[in-house]
Amino acid sequence: MYIVQIASECAPVIKAGGLGDVVYGLSRELENQGHCVELILPMYDCMRYDHIWGIHDAYKDLWVPWYDGQIHCSVYCGWVHGRVCFFIEAHSEDNFFHRGCYYGCDDDNMRFAFFSKAALQFLQQSNKCPDVIHCHDWQTGLIPVMLYEMYKYHGMEYQRICYTIHNFKHQGICGNEVLKATGLNRPEYYFQYDKVRDNFNGFALNMMKGGIVYSNAVTTVSPHHAWEALHTEINCGLGHTLDIHQGKFQGVLNGIDFEFWSPDVDKYIPNNYTTEDFEQKAYNKKALRERLNLDDSNKPLIAYIGRLDAQKGVHLVHHAIYHALERQAQFVLLGAATEPSIHSWFAHEKKFLADDPDVHIELGFNEELSHLIYAAADMIVVPSNYEPCGLTQMIGLKYGTVPIVRGVGGLVNTVFDWDYDTMHTPEERNGFVFFETDNYALESAMGRAIDLYNLSPELFCNLAIQGMKCDNSWKYPAEDYVEIYETIRHKHN
Ligand code: ADP
Repeated sequence: MYIVQIASECAPVIKAGGLGDVVYGLSRELENQGHCVELILPMYDCMRYDHIWGIHDAYKDLWVPWYDGQIHCSVYCGWVHGRVCFFIEAHSEDNFFHRGCYYGCDDDNMRFAFFSKAALQFLQQSNKCPDVIHCHDWQTGLIPVMLYEMYKYHGMEYQRICYTIHNFKHQGICGNEVLKATGLNRPEYYFQYDKVRDNFNGFALNMMKGGIVYSNAVTTVSPHHAWEALHTEINCGLGHTLDIHQGKFQGVLNGIDFEFWSPDVDKYIPNNYTTEDFEQKAYNKKALRERLNLDDSNKPLIAYIGRLDAQKGVHLVHHAIYHALERQAQFVLLGAATEPSIHSWFAHEKKFLADDPDVHIELGFNEELSHLIYAAADMIVVPSNYEPCGLTQMIGLKYGTVPIVRGVGGLVNTVFDWDYDTMHTPEERNGFVFFETDNYALESAMGRAIDLYNLSPELFCNLAIQGMKCDNSWKYPAEDYVEIYETIRHKHN
């Protein structure tokens, strides 16, 4: 099958969070399973050009209709660790992708509406005929709309779309102007509730809703989150739309790329290890302690790696630091905040705890350091408010770093409580789970983990090794996606 992935991220060249990992990892596994995969991405000025090989002009003069005129674009092609990627560069005064950031601009809606239009225009003008186009999140939600309403009539009638929602929180709520800009026009048609009109704000359009309504298949990133999306408020207002389209909606658990995330081959860590020589992990702990000036002691080391925002349960992350100290454990945090207030809060904590030999707070994004922390820590805490899938607990498992998680979303599908899980055998249990959002729930789960570490080190070690044996690779999720692709490619639009 010929599959084109269109997304706003692809790790490691463009990575703000899990989306980048997923787009890369799924593409690689689909290729391993014999499919032809190409990716279309924006050409950001701030992406990691050092991860692109052999970049060259693929399509010099791509003219993309935009409002009443056209924008001149160039498409470059290069290999990102073996994946064929097309990068779209727009030559216009808007400088859509030359902002020194991936997201967070006032005109993000227009930037990604333009990217969506340009990606389709590129497919059409270059006569590419993928069987399936796989789009991701709100940034590409208009692609199915434009394919079905416009490009289908211009040579793209056989392309089918799989649309994956990685986070319901950001939906691309926008106004009339995207219709004018993209040439969809006809506001009276699109401003209907069964089309793209936002379910809450009748004066707005919703790009993610467009993706759900117009795609042939819709997925989210774990089975439990799919259930939550249909039955709880986590869908952020899209419940009714999902309800109507639930026949084509399902959850497919993300995987992690074992070539990148595996302690036996990881190039960023000083000591590689496997389940066979698990004791080697301790040397990574030593290396991290040296690097961060932490005390070398027999205390357990607990980590948090992730964005610092409300979704991730920042209050509990904050409490976890102090509870770890109270329980004679060490804590390392690596996180970037998008909201200034959260950044200042943690920057203050960093200053306040600067002289404590048992804590390190690193604010910012650092891929290389994240690998060392996964390899060094004994436990990783993921106290999310909601978590569509979550990769950090899966990476933690692979590195023998026992996850302590809140039982929501994909965390439910991947972490099974050592003491209380009733659905899995003792050999399948791999972490600690709590459910409430208060400090006591977190303390109780952290306490159980720390006690096991201190009082029964052998059992703790077994638990960590059991986690390393979990197969959260892309093999099975990619097979699920292939099944979805096969189903939709034989369907009439
Ligand atoms: P998100 O909601 O951000 O997508 P996920 O758990 O799905 O969360 O994925 C997070 C990914 O981003 C993981 O690969 C994690 O290691 C990485 N990550 C998050 N924050 C940082 C950071 N500050 N530095 C390095 N990597 C990070």
